[in-house]
Amino acid sequence: KINSPLEAYKYLPQTNCGECGEPTCMAFASKLIDRSGKTTDCPPLIKEKKFAKKLAELDKLLAPEIREVAIGVGDRVAKIGGDDVLYRHKLTFFNKTKMFFDVTDTMEESALVERVKKITDYKKFYVGRNLLLDGVAIRAASNDPAKFASAVKKVIENTELPVILCSFNPAVLKAGLEVAKDKNPLLYAANKDNWKEVGELALEYKVPVVVSAFNDLDALKSLAKTFADAGIKDIVLDPGTYPSGKGLKDTFTNFLKIRRAGIMGDTEIAYPVMAMPLTAWMSGISDPVSASYWETVLASVFTIRYGDVMLLHSMDPYATMPEVHLAETIYTDPRSPVAVDSKMYKVGTPDENSPVLFTTNFALTYYTVESDLASNGINCWLLAVNTDGIGVEAAVAGGQLTADKVKDAFEKSGFDLKKDVTHNTVITPGLAARLQGDLEDKLGSKVLVGPMDSGRLPGFMEKNWPP
Ligand code: SF4
Repeated sequence: KINSPLEAYKYLPQTNCGECGEPTCMAFASKLIDRSGKTTDCPPLIKEKKFAKKLAELDKLLAPEIREVAIGVGDRVAKIGGDDVLYRHKLTFFNKTKMFFDVTDTMEESALVERVKKITDYKKFYVGRNLLLDGVAIRAASNDPAKFASAVKKVIENTELPVILCSFNPAVLKAGLEVAKDKNPLLYAANKDNWKEVGELALEYKVPVVVSAFNDLDALKSLAKTFADAGIKDIVLDPGTYPSGKGLKDTFTNFLKIRRAGIMGDTEIAYPVMAMPLTAWMSGISDPVSASYWETVLASVFTIRYGDVMLLHSMDPYATMPEVHLAETIYTDPRSPVAVDSKMYKVGTPDENSPVLFTTNFALTYYTVESDLASNGINCWLLAVNTDGIGVEAAVAGGQLTADKVKDAFEKSGFDLKKDVTHNTVITPGLAARLQGDLEDKLGSKVLVGPMDSGRLPGFMEKNWPP
């Protein structure tokens, strides 16, 4: 395993030819280490026979500890696993937890199609991006191959999302595979009773497969090893998910043990893990709000530790919103805060009399301020100052938000406080109050200190605007 650009550099052609788009091989080596580049991006390494051995060695050394498994095809392919660390601040977590929502083959056709569309069209706007759901899990509640095949056909006709085929009956899985074989579905699941037949299906159709053993890690590892020895590479582990608080400790411990062993080099169990929060609906909880609650609790716990793919049921907003938000947060790369472009933005329809504000380009800060302004009908100009994606308070303390930086951002945006507005005034965030004097000197403008919290901007504007 290699962790530094210098180590990766040894395997590169070292000609600095620039064909990869980087000025030097060392710069490219850095991209390999942070996984923003792949060995296939270096044409000489790929094309020239003399580098073949080094390429093979480098690929092996760069491979993540936990195998990366792809479900589906095309733009919406769901990649899971691929992690190298137990704690995200040691590097980052790759491949956000993928959320598959269930349908069953006993649903009425219209209800099935409607739910598939709902899963496909789900969209939640959050700090500048849309959070989406990842796939459809088709459960063979009928245990009838023909019925299952018909449901799988309906699903893949109505979505491009990846699918998971769910049954312990190999005949049912085969019927589904015949319909969806071009979609690289995930097979759920092989267990102690059906592993031989399901393993053969995975090999024959070349698809990823889940091995399942409830609360029995030895059996789970043994199944995974048997499959790996048979030549199946894309394996997902299902150690079982207890349906509610009872048993949660065991499930949690199993997830920890599996991931710790995988990261520490036990290749026999170094595969992505499946969590099944939808078991909350199968636990005898009759109240749907309680079932949704427990499902969301389980999804949250195993997003943090270490569910790579999940089967879920509830699409109520109070269930899906925390689930997709948490996954987005945990899998945000801590090395590069989410940032918006540093420029002047229009909120609403501002004119020459409208207020001018600035904030930082940390996406969470920017969109919070923008939303507080827009939802209160405040037409204004909002400058996002480049603070390397750091929020206001930390950026002021750390020197990323200074009067010079604000001046520079105004200049780069092309916005002239003396010409583009009539009032030559700018409003600073309350948390950057101490920049006021320096800003007035640097900008030659009047500087008003705004509220500490952008939620108070409407009240502030009522009292202080026009200046
Ligand atoms: Fe080096 Fe390969 Fe990039 Fe050329 S293409 S600079 S050889 S890493």
